[in-house]
Amino acid sequence: MIETKGYAAQAPAAELAPWTFERREVGPHDVQFDILFCGVCHSDLHQIRDEWFPGIFPMVPGHEIVGRVIKVGDHVKKFKVGDLAGTGCMVDSCQECENCKKDLEQYCLEGSTQTYNGLERDGKTPTYGGYSNTIVVREEFVLHISEKLNLAAVAPLLCAGITTYSPLRHWKVGKGHKLAVLGLGGLGHMGVKFGVAFGAEVTVLSTSPKKEADAMKLGAHHFVVTTDEAQVKAAKVTFDFILDTVSAEHDFNMYLSLLRTDGTLICVGVPPKPAEIAAFSLLGGRKSIGGSGIGGIAETQEMLDFCAEHDIVSDIEIIDIKDIQTAYDRMQKGDVRYRFVIDLATL
Ligand code: NAP
Ligand code: ZN
Repeated sequence: MIETKGYAAQAPAAELAPWTFERREVGPHDVQFDILFCGVCHSDLHQIRDEWFPGIFPMVPGHEIVGRVIKVGDHVKKFKVGDLAGTGCMVDSCQECENCKKDLEQYCLEGSTQTYNGLERDGKTPTYGGYSNTIVVREEFVLHISEKLNLAAVAPLLCAGITTYSPLRHWKVGKGHKLAVLGLGGLGHMGVKFGVAFGAEVTVLSTSPKKEADAMKLGAHHFVVTTDEAQVKAAKVTFDFILDTVSAEHDFNMYLSLLRTDGTLICVGVPPKPAEIAAFSLLGGRKSIGGSGIGGIAETQEMLDFCAEHDIVSDIEIIDIKDIQTAYDRMQKGDVRYRFVIDLATL
């Protein structure tokens, strides 16, 4: 076994602290890479706090992982020692069901294996995430990372990037569309960058007036403060799509009223509590609500290649791992500009 250093929560809502654990030896189809940077996703906070479902503890969070390959199994074809590598929210799936065969491993009918707070395919070995110094992942779930981009700023693409890229591609959002991105945090700021890159007219819907200048720098065309009634009123019946990245309870009916006829609200944010949605909010204007979870491995590689080609990375604040609690507190308050990334050299 490989002795691994990490930061873990020992129980729900516990503060993260140093913890040593074991990873499996590198098998014939595995890649081991040393982790250089790991992004901090709001999902980490939801899961440490057991906000979605009872978690597996000790929990080592982190699913925006980049680093350099240090060992490969005998049958590994796509990676060699020294390559850059990345892993996102999943590390395995059945590879056989109809969804896996369609490159939709995230919707594996047997359940994909989450990078942390999950169980390996044996159904009993817990998985541990990227707030750690090294990781072993089967080759199919390791992504190639371009040497061209700032590596720390690439890390968030592995979750925030693909989670916003995938639905915008699925719903073919682009030229001629008015897209609103709801919530300007880790996911939201990537949604703005992709929406702009795909040619849509992008509006940020935010509770934070002080983020307006940043939104414009990110390429957004308009900014609506959602706590300002007059601004919300002026934005009624405007958008073809709303990409909802909000992590907390919010009024879906109010946001649905901002859609045009046949508009779609795309849920990617995962508030802990279910929302109340009035049928009237949907039938007036034949509106739809959809949802999307991360993206498949092939699409994640496509997104990484797209980012390398178009020079797209995340806007980040690099942190020391000992400051993770402060980062969580700031994220909880919406004070994130626009992704915290842990420098694992500080572990
Ligand atoms: P984040 O960086 O904390 O950003 C969330 C943003 O939502 C905040 O910055 C804030 O933006 C806005 N917000 C927060 N509370 C709000 C409220 N009560 N009402 C309205 N807006 C509010 O979080 P993230 O990492 O981007 O993650 C966002 C959500 O997506 C989380 O629930 C996460 O678990 C989920 N997620 C889903 C997937 C998936 O596969 N679907 C993948 C990753 C993450 P403003 O200041 O602009 O209002
Ligand atoms: Zn995430």
